[in-house]
Amino acid sequence: MTAQLRTVRQLGDPILRRVAQPVDGIDDRLLTLIDDLIWTAEKTNGVGIAAPQVGVSQRVVIVASRPNLRYPHAPLMEPTALINPEIVARGDRRSEGWEGCLSVPDQRGPVWRHDEVEVCYLTPAGEIRQAVFTGFVARVLQHEYDHLEGVVFVDRVTDPQRLLSEADYFAQLTPAPAK
Ligand code: ZN
Repeated sequence: MTAQLRTVRQLGDPILRRVAQPVDGIDDRLLTLIDDLIWTAEKTNGVGIAAPQVGVSQRVVIVASRPNLRYPHAPLMEPTALINPEIVARGDRRSEGWEGCLSVPDQRGPVWRHDEVEVCYLTPAGEIRQAVFTGFVARVLQHEYDHLEGVVFVDRVTDPQRLLSEADYFAQLTPAPAK
């Protein structure tokens, strides 16, 4: 069976504001959802996605950092599905970094996140795992976890006046061509 591209819900859809329900069992429907989420993140140049973003109010997130058109400097990792994730520890250090969201097209904004988080979750095979995420991957995890709580990154933007269109964001990043 091949994974399907799912429609990504956009800001304003009430499902993005709901607290998602815990997963109470791993079945074929859930595994299909996970395959579809990984596929949808890849096809839309995401580095992560949460189930509520495709209209499923359940506690499942994908963290799938890789360099792509939207995040050219993202580190490469295997896509990881986290079922019922819990952030069990947060490092003291925080950094401000630019975020975007598949549910908020064409916007980037600066958000403070912990540089390191420890997360406990269930794998699709039903195993309990505890893992430490750092740097950009920790940022992605915190962003996706927020989606399970009905929080969108624009809620956390340090200063809404610093929100940028993607075009302006990339223009700021790209050094002027040498003469
Ligand atoms: Zn998002």
